[in-house]
Amino acid sequence: ASLRKEDSTTDGTSFKGHDMLAPFTAGWQSTDLHPLVIEKSEGSYVYDINGKKYLDTLAGLWCTALGGNEPRLVAAATEQLNKLPFYHSFWNRTTKPSLDLAKELLETFTASKMAKAFFTNSGSEANDTQVKLVWYYNNALGRPNKKKFIARSKSYHGSTLIAASLSGLPALHHKFDLPAPFVLHTDCPHYWRYHVPGETEEEFSTRLANNLENLILKEGPETIAAFIAEPVMGAGGVIPPPATYFDKIQAVVKKYDILFIADEVICAFGRLGTMYGSDKYNIKPDLVSVAKALSSAYMPIGAVMVSPEVSDVIHSQSTKLGSFSHGFTYSGHPVACAVAIEALKIYKESNILDKVNSIAPKFQDGLKAFSDSPVVGEIRGTGLILGTEFVDNKSPNDPFPPEWGVGSYFGAQCEKEGMLVRVAGDNIMMSPPFIILPEEVDELISKYGKALKATE
Ligand code: PLP
Repeated sequence: ASLRKEDSTTDGTSFKGHDMLAPFTAGWQSTDLHPLVIEKSEGSYVYDINGKKYLDTLAGLWCTALGGNEPRLVAAATEQLNKLPFYHSFWNRTTKPSLDLAKELLETFTASKMAKAFFTNSGSEANDTQVKLVWYYNNALGRPNKKKFIARSKSYHGSTLIAASLSGLPALHHKFDLPAPFVLHTDCPHYWRYHVPGETEEEFSTRLANNLENLILKEGPETIAAFIAEPVMGAGGVIPPPATYFDKIQAVVKKYDILFIADEVICAFGRLGTMYGSDKYNIKPDLVSVAKALSSAYMPIGAVMVSPEVSDVIHSQSTKLGSFSHGFTYSGHPVACAVAIEALKIYKESNILDKVNSIAPKFQDGLKAFSDSPVVGEIRGTGLILGTEFVDNKSPNDPFPPEWGVGSYFGAQCEKEGMLVRVAGDNIMMSPPFIILPEEVDELISKYGKALKATE
């Protein structure tokens, strides 16, 4: 159901069979189809190489929170490039932007206390760093057996070896000999799909918390180091947690001295209408991962925030354990940090949370109004994130045959209409820029409606 069988350039240049081994792209797609080549962005829109305009409902990859052409971010990058394009942060040498960003970033997180920030280039590296930090911490405490991680089915935590292992999506494991043996997966908290008849959301959450506790007891609590979760699951299909879920899960995790890692890579900085997903769901994590909207994606950067308890152990034990020998050439890259500092400033000065909260009901209600469509199983979301799941007979137990390509057909129709959505099987995902305007939401709803009609 792809539209891109014809040459995608006006000047006759063909990119069919291009030279990139493209991420998350099937080999046949690279060889048989023309890629959609994006050349320019402006606010909530991107333009392809032929000048066709698309409403970018995924904000790149859930990340260009401030849209396509925020001049303050460009100015911050340019100024820093002119002053100091690079210096590292190894061996107690560093740069002012990385020190300043660490301070600013820690101040944004108030759901629990965070004492230190570690910089990475991406969300995957942030989650890999989490695992190494937690192992280092437990080694420092003399608990060499407390090393296993529990993540959830359908979670997405990135695609490096460790982050892909934590992720609960089969496509990230098959053919890569993953997950690594120290990772266990527990239930996906998707009420619509997995509740049993008659079960309330609260009862469903209780059942999942009991399953988690049973898993911990079966493995031995002394072997479980940490639990990792996205406040709202993103790439797994946009799955907000059911009522009381995080309260119950946190109680279990706390009981067995297991660290809680909030993967806020998508949810942070306003996506859900709160600064963090942890604020929205009363999560009190020990460790937090961020990336994406941290710089509104204008420069690659991610970070891990660490609680005082964990950072105290790491610091106090350093004479015994030696240096924390982990980091990247570009950890705390000054240009990326300068851009992130400016992004955080813009979020604050423009009252970004008010902006998201004023536009979110229009976006959520406008799209959820299509829930009665015969091909729609569920439309779910909160704030500026939303997922649509297509099924037959309105039942989670009746998926469409994959070869029908219902989701890809819908995605192709959107593309034809001038709108980009994320398609994963029969799940469609959207997370528009925080700066999306009311008339752009109207356009989004209208294009979604047309694509849905064509799909029915
Ligand atoms: N964690 C979550 C929740 C994500 O959604 C993603 C990416 O989509 C990642 C981690 C990985 O981030 P990156 O692609 O920057 O490595």
